[in-house]
This record gives sequence, C-alpha cells and structure tokens, in this order.
Amino acid sequence: MKRAVVWFRSDLRLHDNEALTHAINTADEIIPLYIFDERVFKAKTSFGFNKTEVHRSQFIIESVTDLRSSLLKLGANLIVRIGSPEKIIPELCRSHKANWVYCNRERTKEEVIVQDELEANLWTIGVEMRYCRGKMLYHTADLPFPITQSPDVFTNYRKEVEKLIPIRLPLNAPKEVTMVEGIEEGGLPSVEDFTQDNNGMQPGFPLKGGETNALKELQYYLHETGLVSNYKKTRNEMLGRDYSSKFSAYLATGSLSPKLIYAELLKFAPDLSANEGAYWLYFELLWRDFFRLVGKKYGSKIFLQGGINNKLPDQQSEEMSLFNIWKEGRTGFPLVDANMREMNRTGFMSNRGRQIVASFLIYEMRMNWQLGAEYFESMLVDYDPCSNYGNWQYIAGVGVDPRQGRRFNLVFQAQKHDPEAQYIKHWIPELTDIPYSLLLDPNKYSSEQFFEYGITLGKDYPTPMLSLG
Ligand SMILES: Cc1cc2nc3c(=O)[nH]c(=O)nc-3n(C[C@H](O)[C@H](O)[C@H](O)COP(=O)(O)OP(=O)(O)OC[C@H]3O[C@@H](n4cnc5c(N)ncnc54)[C@H](O)[C@@H]3O)c2cc1C
Repeated sequence: MKRAVVWFRSDLRLHDNEALTHAINTADEIIPLYIFDERVFKAKTSFGFNKTEVHRSQFIIESVTDLRSSLLKLGANLIVRIGSPEKIIPELCRSHKANWVYCNRERTKEEVIVQDELEANLWTIGVEMRYCRGKMLYHTADLPFPITQSPDVFTNYRKEVEKLIPIRLPLNAPKEVTMVEGIEEGGLPSVEDFTQDNNGMQPGFPLKGGETNALKELQYYLHETGLVSNYKKTRNEMLGRDYSSKFSAYLATGSLSPKLIYAELLKFAPDLSANEGAYWLYFELLWRDFFRLVGKKYGSKIFLQGGINNKLPDQQSEEMSLFNIWKEGRTGFPLVDANMREMNRTGFMSNRGRQIVASFLIYEMRMNWQLGAEYFESMLVDYDPCSNYGNWQYIAGVGVDPRQGRRFNLVFQAQKHDPEAQYIKHWIPELTDIPYSLLLDPNKYSSEQFFEYGITLGKDYPTPMLSLG
C-alpha cells in the first residue's frame, strides 16, 4: 500500500488541484489534511496587529468546512489539526506509514520557512515532499523566461505572455477519493478560538467561504448575470456587490482556480478580445500573476520598506496615535474614512478604495507604507502576500512601478468615483443630510456649514486631520 498525505494550504479546492490529483494518481490511499497554524491565526504582526482578523479567520474556517463536506461526499474526509505543520505532518506520516507529502509550493518568507523545515523533518524519516503548482493563471514552467529574468514592468510581462503562451486547462475534480482509514478527523475551530483583543470585531464579509460558493459566484458573475461584460466600466466603483467580481477571497484561499475562471471566460466570450469586460477580468488576473512572479523573483524584498531596489522612501513616520486615526476611519476625509470603515466592518475594500487610502497614508500623512500594508494583512479577507505588499510598494514608489509612486488627488477621486457621495453616505450615515458639494473637499468646508445640517464637526464627525498639499 502506497500512501500520500495531501497537505491543503491555500488551495482549498477539489477542482484544478495539482497536489490532490497527483497524489491520487500515485498513491493507493491518501490522507487529506489541513492544519490551522497558530502562528498565522493567533500571532501578531510586527506592528502589533492581529495577524489574521476575524473576517479572514471566518472565511477560511468556512472554506475548510466546505472542503471537508466535499471530501465526505467522495467517500473520504479532511483531517483537521491545530498546530505546527512541520511537527504534525511527520508524526502523521510515521504513524500511518505515508510515503509522500504532496502540497502546493509557497513562495513567501513565512510559508517557505515552514515548508523547508517540514521537508527537512520528513527527510529524517525517509518521506519525500512533492511540490505542486496551482496558484497562477500561467504555469511557471510554460513562461518564456526564467523567474530571475521575468520583466519588472507589467506591460512588458503582459506582452510576453498574453498572445504567445497558452493557459493550461484546469484539472477536473476527482470523482472518488480512497482515504486511509482510522484517523481521528479532528474538530473544526471556531472564530472565537482565534479571536484576541480586537474590540469585539465580528466577521462581516457578506460572501461565504469555500469552493461550493466560489463556483456559484463564478456562475453568477459570468453566465447567470453577464455582469462581467460591463466589468471594465464598473470596476472602479466602490458600492455594492456587482461592480467587480469579488473573486479575490476565493482566489486567496485557493477555493477558486484562476485557470477555471479563464476557461469559463472563454465559454462566455470565445473571442476574449471582442468582449471588453471579459478581457479586462483576464487582464486583472494577469496583474495577480505578475505580483506573484515579482514575489518569486525578489523574495523577502517585497516586504522591505526600501522595496525591491532598497530605496528608502521619504515618508517614514510610525507615530501610532496618528496611524490609528487612519486605521479607525477618523481622518475627517469622508472618502478615506468610508473606505476604512468598510474594511473594518467587512474585511473588504474595492481596488479603487485601497489605492485611495494607501495614497493618503503615504503621501498626505507621510507615514511608513509598511504600517498600512500590515494593517491590510490583518484585516483583508482576501489577503495575499504578493498582491498586498506588491500593490503597497507600487503606490509607495519602491516596487515595480516605473513611475516614482502613485499619489491620488482625493478631490478628483471623490468627484469621479463617488459622484453623488452614495458610497460615503452608506458607510458614514451621520453625513447623510450633508450636500455632496460640501463633502467633496474637506479643506474647503467650515464648521458653520456642517452645523446648518445638524453636524458638529469634531463631535459628530472629525474635523479634517490635515490640509491637502
Ligand atoms: C494597496 C492594495 C492592496 C491590495 N491587497 C490585495 C490583497 O491582499 N489580495 C488581493 O487579492 N488583492 C489585493 N489588491 C488588489 C485588488 O484591490 C483586489 O484584488 C480586488 O479589489 C479584489 O476585488 P475583486 O475580486 O472584486 O476584484 P476584480 O476587480 O473583480 O478583479 C478580479 C481579480 O483580479 C485580481 N486583481 C485585481 N486587481 C488586482 C491588483 N491590483 N493586483 C493584483 N491582483 C489584482 C484579483 O485576484 C481579483 O480577484 C490590493 C490592491 C491595493 C491597491
């Protein structure tokens, strides 16, 4: 009997799962396993935020629960443990005589440390670790350049791949799974098991985690509603469910494969370039791949303040009392505050919102971008190390952007992307009665004007914390 452990990490799905497929094809029996690593779910970031806030914990627990019930339908189960993979997996291999451990290879620092230590521990007991892939749209082996030579400019990268390199078809989900019997399945944790000093924050992301829901959302956005056709026009909006795909959390947990999205996009629009919205969704998935490649190429530099070229930015304050004003959505700049309040409440923020609040922290408040990136790491339901730190570095001007950073004009952004202040008023209901023209430029309004509408600045809503430069 040959046996393999399939260690699910951020690939919480049955479809297009290379590790699972290879393990089933190679071994007679498998042990599907997920480990809640307390260093991820209970620890703090270096600036002291909870590493994984409730929105993401909840989403991951839902995703693992869904994976277990899908495996049960195939006659297997998902073994769940809480602890350190590098200790738990060798023990499981030893007690159940497994020959291999299959898993997706991770590329960012903390994940690599764990997988390296696990591999070393497995060697000592003669178990082989077999790495698989599956995070990206393009298979790295198909790329026309070695990772060390991958382009640093997105457009160059796109041109090298989009017309020339075929995207592989997604692998089918297995029809049955033969599992090693007699292993204690292990209980699923609840969010409360991981929650710590977070001022009573409750999970608030409106979509439920897991592959079953990911597949429903894919159907919804493409085939049921055709919303994807308008994606290019709507993607910079901020309010509601439908302006963008909301695939990110499913992609981050791996409940949804980017190759499957691509295959479904082709069913929806066989000539992708003829459907602006469908093409643009593919284009954004290319950005995701691009940041992942940047992470592979530059390793830990994607987390450094000086970025990939070790160029220290001008903005370096780490004054926490100032930072907390941004973090809690109390800057007095309604568009910034609305976005921060949305993220604090739900774990999600639109792409436009993320750019706006990041620019505000870096260029108006002149703070160290790493503070913002770490706070996003804590809060986002779709946190992905490469996409998060890559985008923050890009805006701070220390990443792969050929320009020297991206400073957004707040007044222009409000005019263009929230023209009737519907988004602002949704998340800051105390401003409902204030006319839009007054909300546009916080440096031009006066306390008297707000008072006319029943709002006392500094009491009902904060006075602007700074003057825009
Ligand atoms: C400062 C900052 C931090 C970010 N942190 C993350 C993060 O931790 N995790 C994350 O998945 N995305 C991150 N993004 C990218 C982007 O904001 C989100 O992917 C997007 O808002 C998620 O919503 P959606 O799924 O509806 O996206 P859609 O607009 O529907 O896009 C489809 C998919 O394309 C990918 N994508 C879109 N824009 C980007 C982008 N700029 N960079 C990389 N991939 C992109 C995502 O996987 C997304 O799900 C960040 C952007 C900024 C500016």
